[in-house]
Amino acid sequence: MRPALPDALRPLLELAYNLRWTYNAPIRALFRDLDQVLWETTGRNPAALLRRIERRRLQEAAQDAGYVARVHALARDFHAHLSLPSWFDTHQPRGAHLRVAYFAAEFGLTDCVPLYSGGLGILSGDHLKSASELGIPLTGVGLLYRHGYFTQRISGAGRQLESYPRTHIEDLPAQRELAPDGRTVTIRLEFPGREVHAEVWRIQVGRIHLLLLDTGIEANRPEDQVITGALYAGDRETRLQQEIVLGIGGLRALLAVGQRPNVCHMNEGHAAFLVLERLRQLVRDEGLPLRDAQDAIRAENVFTTHTPVPAGFDAFSPELMRPYFESYAAELGLGWGDFLALGGSDGGSPFSMAVLALNHSGTCNAVSPLHRDVSRALFRSFHPPQHEAAERLEFVSNGIHNRSWVSLEMKALLTRHLGDRWLREPQEPSAWEGLDAVPDAELWGVHADCRARLVEWVRQRLPQQLERRGVEPQEHAWARQVLDPQALTIGWARRFAGYKRATLLLRDVERLRRLLLGDPARPVQVVIAGKAHPHDDEGKRMIEDLARFAADAGVRARVVLLANYDIDVARVLVQGVDVWLNTPRRPLEASGTSGMKVIANGGLHLSVLDGWWAEAYAPDLGWALGGTDGFEDPGHHDHVEAGALYEILEREVVPLFFERDSRGIPAAWVARMRTSMRRLCPYYNTHRMVREYTERFYLPALLPERGLPSPAAGSLVSGPATP
Ligand SMILES: *Cc1c(COP(=O)(O)O)cnc(C)c1O
Repeated sequence: MRPALPDALRPLLELAYNLRWTYNAPIRALFRDLDQVLWETTGRNPAALLRRIERRRLQEAAQDAGYVARVHALARDFHAHLSLPSWFDTHQPRGAHLRVAYFAAEFGLTDCVPLYSGGLGILSGDHLKSASELGIPLTGVGLLYRHGYFTQRISGAGRQLESYPRTHIEDLPAQRELAPDGRTVTIRLEFPGREVHAEVWRIQVGRIHLLLLDTGIEANRPEDQVITGALYAGDRETRLQQEIVLGIGGLRALLAVGQRPNVCHMNEGHAAFLVLERLRQLVRDEGLPLRDAQDAIRAENVFTTHTPVPAGFDAFSPELMRPYFESYAAELGLGWGDFLALGGSDGGSPFSMAVLALNHSGTCNAVSPLHRDVSRALFRSFHPPQHEAAERLEFVSNGIHNRSWVSLEMKALLTRHLGDRWLREPQEPSAWEGLDAVPDAELWGVHADCRARLVEWVRQRLPQQLERRGVEPQEHAWARQVLDPQALTIGWARRFAGYKRATLLLRDVERLRRLLLGDPARPVQVVIAGKAHPHDDEGKRMIEDLARFAADAGVRARVVLLANYDIDVARVLVQGVDVWLNTPRRPLEASGTSGMKVIANGGLHLSVLDGWWAEAYAPDLGWALGGTDGFEDPGHHDHVEAGALYEILEREVVPLFFERDSRGIPAAWVARMRTSMRRLCPYYNTHRMVREYTERFYLPALLPERGLPSPAAGSLVSGPATP
């Protein structure tokens, strides 16, 4: 499978097949420098590049002493990194036996591994990356979608066009798991009237393995080959099958590769069927009574919920469940009715993955304080009410993996002034103290460079986007001059789910026009991107409304709607914008993480007081909208908050941005950048988050003295705004 390389370049293989390159620019540069064009056409995929590159070019590189030296230096650095004692090794000596399995339906690691749709996937990906750096003994478990999530184009009329390009699985920086005898590892699942097989693949992320299951193999009937076809596509039964493959198949895959986890972390309820598989193992294979088996697995399961709405929880009708789970019920010694009760079903009502997970997880958490409160109320309103789970629900605030999201320019600046501790131990407030000594001009200068890069990037991308939709070159000449590198740049990008209210800014189009163009000395511009779920008509209408507005010749130089929001687009945006706008209808945003990426790059956050911002906001950090609930009429709610939004932009944001000193620097703005980075970055990162999961949940699950304070309790900062 793996391409053959000249001896001098052999280390490139392990560098290509370990996704550490996704957050290590020098390694990426090694591949890009081999063949710039191929680098782009392979979607910046080192594994695919090595498979396709001409032998002649490889021979040439192997003769280039400078290049070969770089390869070997980075390989040495890579090995040193892997063998360095980690935080876990040095701080958690009692955790030597810990084996965490981390289950998620999506993993957003990099765009050439298209296994994610949005924030949940990005969070899972960042979790793995921080777990690797911290040395947590953790294995990820997911599905290998052959078609990933859809690719978006936007038609001239603003219609979202979806396509599901097939991932060339051989091109992925992934490997089939091989058994000691050299055969591929496959697991079997009992489906109604047949067996379904899944091949097990592995992706390496630093020290972490991510196991992925793929049913797209010959041994399966055609309709079973497409179970792992695409993310969040297909009907209810496909979804049920995917979740069986993920939860039950995932657990079997771990055992098949010789790993027996002692903590299973379900990141969202999609993997909750693993509970049934664990129960079956204990009841059938070890002869435990069901109650004891339930107690035993409760101790080792962790469940993280991510949705604040009932519809966000997966549930399946008893009729759909029956053919798949009748044998489980029998093996657990349960009648069908009692079996359904495990998922809160009364026999007629749907079987809830959340109820199954809640009742079999010793620790359950939401992802922000507000989300915990909302989830508690939600659990109590379930049928039957989940009072006990509501009672003990905790929260662990989400974070981001700084190495993956902070621009090279900002990294260089911070490292010059702060050393590299802010990257190694971003969770330590003291690692960020040096920010106070970074001169205004430098902080501002770096941010202005990133804004200019964003503008340049849009000027390249937008003409291509228009061309793809059939616009003649002479008709889109303007797009090569779109945006202004000096203008106050506002970004809005995330999924076009209705509650995120992408069009809130369009409530009063005339007022928006005045904001953008009203004062030539204070230009304002907006960059927008996002995908709507293929079945979400409301989201798609928002795209149409935005596309129509952005096409207006009067504003088109200042309003850009970018197609196909993905990690690469997100990265350029969060690094270059001045203000990140977040407009959810409270309290429907459980956390949100894109704003955290912006803060770490020196942008400021203007957001409804929802999700993480309800926890993080303070008046000297950014701007807050709303924070009030209890509107009966959503239209009225939107009207009030749109008004408040224009007000904040006109009276606070624009004046602050354009209030320049003699050097052209907006000193008060830069002070805000500094304050928000200094106070928020030490908390909203995945190093802090993964350490919290480890110290509060993973280790206590393992240690016999369960219930005692965890080993390093108290070592964590208690909240984001601790100055
Ligand atoms: C960070 C990120 C998200 C999450 O955005 P939210 O603001 O949390 O909704 C979604 N998609 C991509 C590509 C991202 O990078």
